[in-house]
Amino acid sequence: MHCTNCGKEVDPKAVICPSCGVQLNQNAPIVNGEGKDWLTTLLLCLFVGPLGVHRFYTGHTVIGIIQLVTAGGCGIWTLIDLIQIITGSFRDANGNELVKKN
Ligand SMILES: [Zn+2]
Repeated sequence: MHCTNCGKEVDPKAVICPSCGVQLNQNAPIVNGEGKDWLTTLLLCLFVGPLGVHRFYTGHTVIGIIQLVTAGGCGIWTLIDLIQIITGSFRDANGNELVKKN
């Protein structure tokens, strides 16, 4: 097996080329990252929800800006988000569920 980047011979089981450091196994699962903290999102929505801060925090930047401009859809949107966060159906921009820490 040869490195696709630098062409040097590498161990077939190697994940990263020892010569140039490029990732060899393209089929390796990409780590999506952990979801955002549930409690932080809840508190942000509860106290500064109309400013869309919980949306910025979870990566929904565009929605955050819209909520900021419309004052959280006159509070209704903030309330819907709050219910979704409490019931656990709220997802961050990467599609990860919010993480509840003990
Ligand atoms: Zn290489």
